[in-house]
Amino acid sequence: MSTAATRTAGPDHLWTVDEHLEDILATVRPLDPIELQLLDAQGCVLVEDIMVPVSLPPFDNSSMDGYAVRVTDVAGASEEYPAVLTVIGDVAAGQAESLHVGPGETARIMTGAPLPPGAEAVVPVEWTDGGLGEGPVTGMRARSQSPEGAGGHVHVYRSAEARAHVRAQGSDVKAGDRALEAGTVLGPPQIALLAATGRGTVRVRPRPRVVVMSTGSELVQPDEQLGNGQIYDSNSFALTAAARDAGAIAYRVGAVADDAEILRSTIEDQLVRADLMVTTGGVSVGAYDVVKEALSSVGDEDEEGAGIDFRKLAMQPGKPQGFGSIGPDHIPLLALPGNPVSSYVSFELFVRPAIRTLMGLDDVHRPRTRATLTADKALTSPKGRRQFLRGTYADGAVTPVGGAGSHLVAALALADALIVVPENIESVEPGTEVDVVLLG
Ligand code: AMP
Ligand code: MG
Repeated sequence: MSTAATRTAGPDHLWTVDEHLEDILATVRPLDPIELQLLDAQGCVLVEDIMVPVSLPPFDNSSMDGYAVRVTDVAGASEEYPAVLTVIGDVAAGQAESLHVGPGETARIMTGAPLPPGAEAVVPVEWTDGGLGEGPVTGMRARSQSPEGAGGHVHVYRSAEARAHVRAQGSDVKAGDRALEAGTVLGPPQIALLAATGRGTVRVRPRPRVVVMSTGSELVQPDEQLGNGQIYDSNSFALTAAARDAGAIAYRVGAVADDAEILRSTIEDQLVRADLMVTTGGVSVGAYDVVKEALSSVGDEDEEGAGIDFRKLAMQPGKPQGFGSIGPDHIPLLALPGNPVSSYVSFELFVRPAIRTLMGLDDVHRPRTRATLTADKALTSPKGRRQFLRGTYADGAVTPVGGAGSHLVAALALADALIVVPENIESVEPGTEVDVVLLG
C-alpha cells in the first residue's frame, strides 16, 4: 500500500479509525457480476433491470374454491330462492382444456384454475350447498360416479357481480413492466418475483470468498486436548461466522503456527480461493509476531501497489492493524490483532464494510444510534483513542457488559452493541448520551 497517509506519516503516526477505514474502502472494489441460479443469488445485488416477460397472473383465474357462473344466472339468488345450476364438470388448477359454461350451467372451480369461457364470476363454495342439496343427482354424489365432476345440480344462495373472485390476467404485473431494478438486494420476496416471472438465473455481484486464518503457536482446535500454555482458537470461528453474517462465503483455515515460512506458504496456497483475506494475531511488537515478517514478502514483492502496510490506530481495542493487497491479483488482506475482542471489533468496523463493498451494497456499515448510558459509575477511556466498549442496547439505553479487557469473550457473547467513546473524551458519566454501534 502506498497511500497519501503512509507516504507522509512516519511509523509512529497514529491513524484515526476513519482514515484506516477510508483507506480500505478506497482500495476495495465491487466484484465483477456473474450469472447465478436464483437461490445462489440470495442476498446479492442485482446488476440488471428485470423486465416481465409474461403477465402475472398469465390468465384470469379463480381466487376461491367454488363455482364458475354467469352473472344473470345467479341474479337475485337468496337462501329462500336459490339459483339451481347444472354442474357440467370440474376445472382444476393446471387444467389445460376448458369447459364452456352456457346459460343455466356452472363448473366447479378450484383456486388458481382458469375461469372457463362463458363464466363471468366465481361464487365461493360457502355461498352454495356444495352440490349436496336436494334435487336430482347432486354434484358431490355425482362426482363419485363421474371423474370430471359432471352431472347434478348446485344451489347458489347469493348473487355475484361480474369478475367476483376472479384474479384478472396482469393484475399483479404486466408483460413489459420492470419487475426489479438494478441495485436491488435479492431477499426472499424478490426471489419469489423472479421465479414467478419465470427467471431461473440472474446477473448479480457474487458473494465474496473470504479466507479467515488465525495465527499463534499457542492455539488448539476445539475438541482437542489443551496442553500447558495452550488456548483454543476462537478467532477463526468468530470471524468466519461474522464473514458469513456479512454476506460472504467464508473459508476457515485452522490456526497457523508462528512461523513466517509456514504462514507465507499457507497464505499463498489460500490465495486461489480468496476475494479477501483476513488474518488474526501476530501484528503487534512481540518477538513472535510473524505476520508482519511473513506478509512483507508474500506473492510478487516487486508488484506495483502490492504489499501490506502495518500501522497503529488511535483506537481501543484494535491498535495494531495491517492492510494491503497481496499476490498477482492484488487480493485485499486485513491483518487484525489477536486478542479475541480486538479482532472481532476490528472485523465489525473494517472487514464487514470491505465485504459489503465487494458485494456492491450501498449499505456497508452497521447501523448506529444515540443512547443514554446506564451504568453504576463513569466509563473511563484512554486519551487520544476512540474506544469501543461492549454493551447491551434496549429502548434508547445502553449498558456496558464486562470491562475494557480485550480478552473478555464471555462478556462479548452477551453484548449486542458497541459503545463509542470519542478520542477527546476520557470519562463518560451515567446518563450521558453516547454513540452506539448496533451489532444486530
Ligand atoms: P497476538 O496478537 O498474536 O499477540 O495475540 C494477542 C492475544 O490474543 C494473545 O493472548 C493470544 O493468545 C490471543 N489470541 C491470538 N489469536 C487467538 C485466537 N485465534 N483465538 C483466541 N485467542 C487468540
Ligand atoms: Mg500471536
